[in-house]
Amino acid sequence: MKYKAYMVPNPAMPCQPVKFNQEICNGCNTCVDVCRRDVLMPNPVKGKPPIVLYPDECWFCGNCVQYCQRPGAIKFYHPLNQKVGWIRKDTGEFFRVGMKNPPKYKRKPPIG
Ligand code: SF4
Ligand code: SF4
Repeated sequence: MKYKAYMVPNPAMPCQPVKFNQEICNGCNTCVDVCRRDVLMPNPVKGKPPIVLYPDECWFCGNCVQYCQRPGAIKFYHPLNQKVGWIRKDTGEFFRVGMKNPPKYKRKPPIG
């Protein structure tokens, strides 16, 4: 063949749904198989982590992380615009879903 085609990740994309830990991932490609959006592609180098080829197609379903059999091999990152935040009016404190030490849940609605 005269020309070769290569799949490469696009690092300019701001969206990074998942990151791999090269030390733990064994390149089994289970995450690639279960990704419903074909965001991930097998690495052409056997045993290496998959390539996040189409990060902006990710649905943030978490399948890839859930089905991985090697804890820590793949980490999931919610995009900033999906991290709901709120501010307590009287103190100005800022809170985020998933934060460490979140405030106690209040059953009472904030109005009335
Ligand atoms: S992240 Fe997990 S499921 Fe995906 S290739 Fe690596 S070891 Fe396999
Ligand atoms: S979160 Fe879902 S859509 Fe996104 S890469 Fe993982 S499996 Fe694919």
